[in-house]
Amino acid sequence: MKSLPSFIFLYVIMLNFSLTVTSLNQRCIDIIDAIERKSDLVLCPIIDDPKRKDNLGEYLTGANMILINFTCEISDTALCDKIKSAFETAGSTISAAFNFRAQIIIDARFKNLNNKNVLGSTVPTRLMFLDSEDDVTRLYPQALVKQFQFTNHSQYADSDITSIFNSAFNYWFEGDPPIKQNQYDFYTIAVHEIFHGLGFYSLWGNYFGFNNKTIDALTPYPLLSGMSSSDPLYFNGFVESIFDKFLMIYDSTTSSIISSTNITSELNTFGPPGTKFSSLTDFSDKFKASSQWETVAKYFYRMATMAESMKFVPRGVDFISGTFLETSIPFFPGSSICHVSNADYSGTSDFLMRYVVESGVTGTNLTARGGSYSGGVIGPHLREIMSSLG
Ligand SMILES: [Zn+2]
Repeated sequence: MKSLPSFIFLYVIMLNFSLTVTSLNQRCIDIIDAIERKSDLVLCPIIDDPKRKDNLGEYLTGANMILINFTCEISDTALCDKIKSAFETAGSTISAAFNFRAQIIIDARFKNLNNKNVLGSTVPTRLMFLDSEDDVTRLYPQALVKQFQFTNHSQYADSDITSIFNSAFNYWFEGDPPIKQNQYDFYTIAVHEIFHGLGFYSLWGNYFGFNNKTIDALTPYPLLSGMSSSDPLYFNGFVESIFDKFLMIYDSTTSSIISSTNITSELNTFGPPGTKFSSLTDFSDKFKASSQWETVAKYFYRMATMAESMKFVPRGVDFISGTFLETSIPFFPGSSICHVSNADYSGTSDFLMRYVVESGVTGTNLTARGGSYSGGVIGPHLREIMSSLG
């Protein structure tokens, strides 16, 4: 960003929904292009996995549970080696900080994206529908689903996380001379990005801002099935991610705390889910003329653009102890909600999941600035958040 020379944004991609199949039975959502934000509803039949019974409940401690499949698409082999090594260190840092039951595979790619504004993008390769403990169906990243060790589950994609980094930036690595003002600490960025792939990921977005039109309403992922945008389609409801299950709003005008899930269920009074529409335009027009759009989707947008109005409240924790999410900037897909508040956590031990990445500063510098937390770049709030997800 030209106006902020020392900052670059870390994007989380927001999905564009797709219309390719007629039934949601045994379907998953694959993110087929991490940069272009394309997703596809794919067939993922339930398969038996009886061998899972053997290590049910067992944590594989000590082993590195994050495997990096690295592809380097530039000619500088020395740089490729540094990227690969920093990626692997990032994986083992996360592996050591949490209890994993199943290995996670990251398809990592380093290439020139010919874009000066995007450092990279990391996404779950596949999202799967699961019923949470409150019987609400949500989308879970495959990396998380694997940890549950189901004896039968939807078919897994070959990798759990897809990560692409832009070689057009100047990166700094541990062991290099002191970091320069225009360099980004690759390891710290890789750790941040892997957390998005593991489920630090909201599905609230502006899905109805077609043709880049800015709109002042937000919804969770709209599940629409049909053959194409002009054919009849079925609305199957708005679906949250598992991250969204823990998203709580504090409304200061009414001094009330409202869960994302309650707001989603109000939105799902539209339709209702199962209703057939003649086309995507028909659905979009009717939804935008509805009271749910006017009073619910717009309300959520207002809250998402008001400082300290949204928190991730982990399991068994009071609202007061939750973590403020990024709501103090104009709504920006991939920055708002799916990061911690920059204003609240800069200079703290939970700096890692802010949406801005500072150049000229290393993770070690930022950890020291935050009070030298013993857990390094993975702060206490982030640990609590990730433990809630799985
Ligand atoms: Zn991010």
